[in-house]
Amino acid sequence: LAGRDFRQEDTIIRIGDVEIGGGQMQVFAGPCAVESWEQLMESAEAVKAAGARFLRGGAYKPRSSPYSFQGLEEAGLKMLARARELTGLLVVTEVIDPGSIERVAYYSDVLQVGARNMQNFFLLRELSKINKPILLKRGLSATIEEWLMAAEYLMAGGNYDVILCERGIRTFETYTRNTLDLSAIPAVKQLSHLPVIIDPSHATGKWQMVRPMARAAVAAGCDGLMIEVHPNPTEALCDGPQSLTPENFGALMNELRAIAEVV
Ligand code: PEP
Ligand code: MN
Repeated sequence: LAGRDFRQEDTIIRIGDVEIGGGQMQVFAGPCAVESWEQLMESAEAVKAAGARFLRGGAYKPRSSPYSFQGLEEAGLKMLARARELTGLLVVTEVIDPGSIERVAYYSDVLQVGARNMQNFFLLRELSKINKPILLKRGLSATIEEWLMAAEYLMAGGNYDVILCERGIRTFETYTRNTLDLSAIPAVKQLSHLPVIIDPSHATGKWQMVRPMARAAVAAGCDGLMIEVHPNPTEALCDGPQSLTPENFGALMNELRAIAEVV
């Protein structure tokens, strides 16, 4: 179902008047984690001012260490929904277990499956039954075929609205957090009709590298970007070193508009 031979024309996912795939570039931006109402609203205002349509923010955080900040959970979801009401931005947030799918879907527009859960087939099966788009991140060490097979799980159960997100893969290089596989864009475009977006924030782990890699991704023909933005990156509870300030994010959006049609 995810393959180009099954469907020749590009999939376009529609949420109200917003389209993902099919020529326009969508930007999903916001903090790694929802930390407080003030932090979320400052981020949302920055995202909106720069012209992006989607606010990202984790309420359930799948952290590598059990001692790291795990997210505000339902209180965070409620803040996201309130920020959506006040700004008109659409909301994408991560779901980490089958038990909270209904709750996360109630408060958001797009549900994110994180890299660590890409092959959580039980979670994917449950998500295949809902009627909201799924943003499926590529696993830390997943091949493109394994990633497309994870999308297939969602589609086989009836959810065709899948956005693929490349967020860097594990290699021998340690200078960057991961290695951004830009070649995933033309590869996915050839193999599949699904939209593919790039997350240069998690791919590089360094805010200084986010703008150049975002420009390269847009030049390579991706359908969108996921960018971490924080009003005060040095004080972020999660992923501060890779987060752009509102000012840098605005500058990036302007740079991108010189390369492609960005909404
Ligand atoms: C995130 O988007 O904040 C996140 C946890 O990403 P990933 O699953 O790609 O590590
Ligand atoms: Mn993050």
